[in-house]
Amino acid sequence: MPKKSIRDIPLAGKRVFTRVDFNVPLNDRGEISDDTRIRAGLPTIHFLLDSGAAVIVATHLGRPKGKVQDSLRLDAVAARLSELLGREVKKTGEVVGEEVTRAAAALQPGEVLLLENVRFHPGEEKNDPELARAYASLADVFVSDAFGTAHRAHASNVGIAYYLPAVAGLLMEAEIANLEKALHDPERPLVAIVGGSKIADKIGVLKNFAGTVDSLLLGGGMANTFLKAKGYNLGRSLVEEDKLVAAAELLRLATYNNVNLCLPVDLVVAKDQDDPHPRVVTVESVPGDAMALDIGPRTREIFASVIREAGTVLWNGPLGVFEKEQFAAGTFAVAEAVAEAGAFSIVGGGDVVAAVEKAGVAGKISHLSTGGGATLEFWEGRELPGIAVLAEREGAGK
Ligand code: ADP
Ligand code: MG
Repeated sequence: MPKKSIRDIPLAGKRVFTRVDFNVPLNDRGEISDDTRIRAGLPTIHFLLDSGAAVIVATHLGRPKGKVQDSLRLDAVAARLSELLGREVKKTGEVVGEEVTRAAAALQPGEVLLLENVRFHPGEEKNDPELARAYASLADVFVSDAFGTAHRAHASNVGIAYYLPAVAGLLMEAEIANLEKALHDPERPLVAIVGGSKIADKIGVLKNFAGTVDSLLLGGGMANTFLKAKGYNLGRSLVEEDKLVAAAELLRLATYNNVNLCLPVDLVVAKDQDDPHPRVVTVESVPGDAMALDIGPRTREIFASVIREAGTVLWNGPLGVFEKEQFAAGTFAVAEAVAEAGAFSIVGGGDVVAAVEKAGVAGKISHLSTGGGATLEFWEGRELPGIAVLAEREGAGK
């Protein structure tokens, strides 16, 4: 469903409450160790400023759980944002209140004001209507650019939308467009790759994929549970015993829907993650004292041949313990295959995006999704509350 974005509304002279996801990692000295998320928000802020808006920016940082925590104040974020924008960024010491009301009222077109960490306020994660109204009272328009938070219904990304016209920022707009297209109107064959450590986190996604995609390639720790459900012995590998039934059901569902579900046929095994001498075995011959930590070379070939034929690729979760060099080859080989396939490709998930970057092929992926949990919930086929509240574009057919 096409949503209205900042490109569809008048912005000159408006005060805009802009919810972003600047939840950046900090090092032990409280410095920003990776500013990717701030950079991702720049196009929207520039667009608003260039359109003559006064821009109020709100974000969360970390998990202060409704209490002020000095180490999670946004001063470092304000400083970095100011550096990247090349203009002053004012900052409040509170989330809402008199100081904030005054600062917002005084804000002129072309100026930027960053509110204090919204999760300092106990009403934020409760989606408290009073807090939402307080946010709304600061501005004329609500812009949501926080795709990473879109699966949560909080006051600054959902509640506020009940009191102000609500539209998508450019990042949110791109996320929705890319994810919608790939899931609902994909160029076929649609190939999904799911890895990562645990099925538990991904049951919903696997269920949806087992009913919609043409091929489903499974690897990583998660695949172990599927292999075990099929009767293979996995030695000391990570296996979720309590998910064996769910895995067997997913296998049946895929068969019923004619989904070409591919499990590893060979594995890289070792004594543990620090073992420098891993070896390759078939899934039939995993030694009792070994752990499966990557997909084997034959599996990489099979996966790559499916990926080469794809029209669309969706990928979540690395296929091995890629953080260790000796277990990264499977994930990297698949990353290469996706990059070279010429398909429309989306990679989503904190670890798999890091893996694709480490493999040096990030530039060849059509869309790197900025959402972890949000992307997964989208792939579950659910409507995300942070997207649902945005206004629809008039005259939109569907
Ligand atoms: P994403 O962040 O892409 O959604 P996950 O968080 O689900 O991915 O999983 C990532 C983690 O899975 C990585 O830390 C990786 O080391 C781990 N992993 C992958 N394969 C295995 C395996 N065979 N055994 C144990 N852990 C694995
Ligand atoms: Mg992860």
